[in-house]
Amino acid sequence: MRPYVVAIIGSGPSGIYAAEALCQQTDVPVSVAVLDRLPVPFGLVRYGVAPDHPSIRSIRNVLERTLSRPEVRFYGDVTVGRDLTVEELRGAVDAVIYAYGAASDRRLGIPGEDLEGSIAAAELVAWYCGHPDVHPDLDRPDAGDRDQVTPAIDAAAATRLVGSTRSAVVVGVGNVALDVVRILIRPTADLARTDMAEEVLTALQGRSVTDVHVLGRRGPAHTSFTTKELRELGDLDGVDIVIDPFDHDLDPATVGKVALRNLGVLSTWSARESSAERGSRGAGRRIHFHFWTRPTALVGDGRVHSVITERTKIDSGGALVGDGPGPELPADLVVRSVGYRGTALPGVPYDEEKARVPHAEGRVIRDGSFATGEYVTGWIKRGPTGVIGTNKSDAVETVTSLLSDIADGELSAGHDSDELGRLLAGRGITPLNMGDWRRIDAAEIARGQSQGRDRATLAHRSALLAAAEHEERP
Ligand SMILES: Cc1cc2nc3c(=O)[nH]c(=O)nc-3n(C[C@H](O)[C@H](O)[C@H](O)COP(=O)(O)OP(=O)(O)OC[C@H]3O[C@@H](n4cnc5c(N)ncnc54)[C@H](O)[C@@H]3O)c2cc1C
Repeated sequence: MRPYVVAIIGSGPSGIYAAEALCQQTDVPVSVAVLDRLPVPFGLVRYGVAPDHPSIRSIRNVLERTLSRPEVRFYGDVTVGRDLTVEELRGAVDAVIYAYGAASDRRLGIPGEDLEGSIAAAELVAWYCGHPDVHPDLDRPDAGDRDQVTPAIDAAAATRLVGSTRSAVVVGVGNVALDVVRILIRPTADLARTDMAEEVLTALQGRSVTDVHVLGRRGPAHTSFTTKELRELGDLDGVDIVIDPFDHDLDPATVGKVALRNLGVLSTWSARESSAERGSRGAGRRIHFHFWTRPTALVGDGRVHSVITERTKIDSGGALVGDGPGPELPADLVVRSVGYRGTALPGVPYDEEKARVPHAEGRVIRDGSFATGEYVTGWIKRGPTGVIGTNKSDAVETVTSLLSDIADGELSAGHDSDELGRLLAGRGITPLNMGDWRRIDAAEIARGQSQGRDRATLAHRSALLAAAEHEERP
């Protein structure tokens, strides 16, 4: 029986879990093409999960096993929407699964947001994870135009900002905010063990950050941190945690279990003595939590130097409202961490309001009806929520819909598995494959080991291509 040829756009966890679900079933033979605009796979597992969390980053090894299966082929360095249109891709395969993530960010919508020194968490994260978009090749100044996601900062700007920051404000109370806080304040010795690119490590070694302020517009019982990650802040050497007095008077019945645990951690910290009092080798660094506080304006002359805030409260109707002026916080760097956001991919249905691809159980809805052979999974399906594992059940739901459409005769196997390769070759495009990834992997490990650590990330596209021994495209 001819295999069903399925193309998956995006090699993050959701795309790879979809490939895994397709390979694990035995009802129909499949041939799976996983495309990514980057030369390397793994999406945010490589370019989002914090470098000081190596055990979470090692999920990559599990994902790699799926990409190495004989039914699966990785097509790296292929941008759908630039190298080929969605329409062309759909014409070369039997079904497409959109798994291209949610790479953009939400804005605060306040005056001063565009001042120098005000950036999205997505940009800072991309910088410290060594994402090629933020680390353009110096000899190719046009490199930023290669893809549809062009970040507002590059590595030089990020290095300058981080190097000249004493006080930073991080807006948001989710896990990404915690990652940013940790990377900004954590001792250099800790960071030196990570797989960060050398230039990022050097920039962080030159930091002079002493204070990071975290702003939560609701109370300490409304944070979306996971408690383990929150606790980790309290263990950082030489870092004190300073917490505004907050309202303990809560009805536990209205608060979820995780929020209650977080509240417990925060309460313990608010009662804790400083690191100097505990006798630790204090470096004089502090993390300040400000709850019921939101920014109303960023102030600066060219570059931001402070954040004006207001206090907030819940009114009798349950709405969050202003409750008078809050502190003006000194800030050379403001990182907004108020959520990622999906973007439209030309040729793919898109719900602007929800910033997702419209669907039902993973079947894409186009002009009000189910689109034959189009499916969606991951962050672009459900929004930027959940942990890596959430993408697995999400991908299984999508693949279950796809398989039931095959069983119902909605989809037929009409294409051969080399059609996509021929289409790309006809355009002079030679994608990177898993053999290339293994050479990049070996090069990063060797480079790291020569520096006494497990791995050193290659940040530039040209360095990745060179390690893969792959020809640069004209
Ligand atoms: C900063 C940060 C830290 C996180 N830390 C953790 C953590 O510690 N633990 C945890 O459980 N979860 C964490 N998460 C959440 C986790 O990363 C996500 O759940 C997961 O990555 C979403 O998977 P995805 O496949 O939908 O998207 P992504 O991982 O974003 O993958 C999408 C892929 O699509 C590719 N792509 C985009 N457009 C195109 C195109 N046009 N053509 C071809 N390819 C394209 C991208 O290059 C990317 O590789 C974190 C998220 C962030 C942002």
